[in-house]
Amino acid sequence: MSALLEVRNLTKHFPVRRGVLRRTVGHVQAVTDVSFDVHAGETLAVVGESGCGKSTIGRALLRLIAPTAGTVTLDGTEVTALPDPALREMRRHMQIIFQDPFGSLNPRMSVAETLAEPLLLHGLATSANVRQKVAELLETCGLQPWHAARFPHEFSGGQRQRVGVARALATRPRLIVCDEPVSALDVSVQAQIVNLLQDLQASFGIAYVFISHDLAVVRHMADRVAVVYLGRVVEEAPTATLFATPRHPYTRSLIAAAPRPDPGLRSDRQPVRGDLPSALAPPPGCAFHPRCPMAEARCRTERPALRAVGGTSVACHFAEAVAESTTPAERPPS
Ligand code: SF4
Ligand code: MG
Repeated sequence: MSALLEVRNLTKHFPVRRGVLRRTVGHVQAVTDVSFDVHAGETLAVVGESGCGKSTIGRALLRLIAPTAGTVTLDGTEVTALPDPALREMRRHMQIIFQDPFGSLNPRMSVAETLAEPLLLHGLATSANVRQKVAELLETCGLQPWHAARFPHEFSGGQRQRVGVARALATRPRLIVCDEPVSALDVSVQAQIVNLLQDLQASFGIAYVFISHDLAVVRHMADRVAVVYLGRVVEEAPTATLFATPRHPYTRSLIAAAPRPDPGLRSDRQPVRGDLPSALAPPPGCAFHPRCPMAEARCRTERPALRAVGGTSVACHFAEAVAESTTPAERPPS
């Protein structure tokens, strides 16, 4: 069975221009050669530090930004090749939820107007039944029909994100890109939104590309995880495999840096050492080598390709050795 979403060699390099002539002096290599599949009804998490290119991947999938190279294919249709009118139609099947619903909802539009717009645009409601459809959407997303008359500023953060979810759901998409959908919310509210997303997936068979830096949420939500470092996928594995046997040193560092559910273990937390290098001039060879505890001479010159190692795709010259070598601090909690 072919995948719902097929991403091949997706690349986005932003030109950097300087001076009065606006000459291109370099490129921010935000995303390079990213490939993955997402099957109907499943969740693929895309994780990494902030600035690693996760959001650029999300936006490029929907062509909210134009990729520099590569293809995105949804249900057999190459999104990256569509002319604009067909792209608008395609967006019915592929939606996005942003981190900050305040920034993504029009403050001057009531919730009714915000939700009616996509329904009418895509012919999923008529002026006669649009009120009813909006009310149904709100109830599906845990809000009340009378919330339709309200404006974004009248809601709490969690309710506002429910409106963001309702807007994405309005067109009954097959895939939703969730870009850090809970990281701006209070911890107590995060679980409610995560549960809502899971309920909707169970009811409607939606696939998610779930962009996050929060490994606890990812572990709970995702079927598979792609770890991104400086715009490239360095490891991809089923979620249980990734947490039990992380094979890339960067994945191990991320897991070791994550807060533990057990407060007694908190002293074990090891921040990923060093800073994320500039995407304007990524380090040669393996881009992780300046921060990698296992780096050897070869790593400074030769970029490791993604390859299959025991049920995982991993880009590290020494992936076999990594899984065997364990230090207690880097072991995930069992
Ligand atoms: Fe570390 Fe080398 Fe593996 Fe890169 S290739 S992650 S530098 S050991
Ligand atoms: Mg981001």
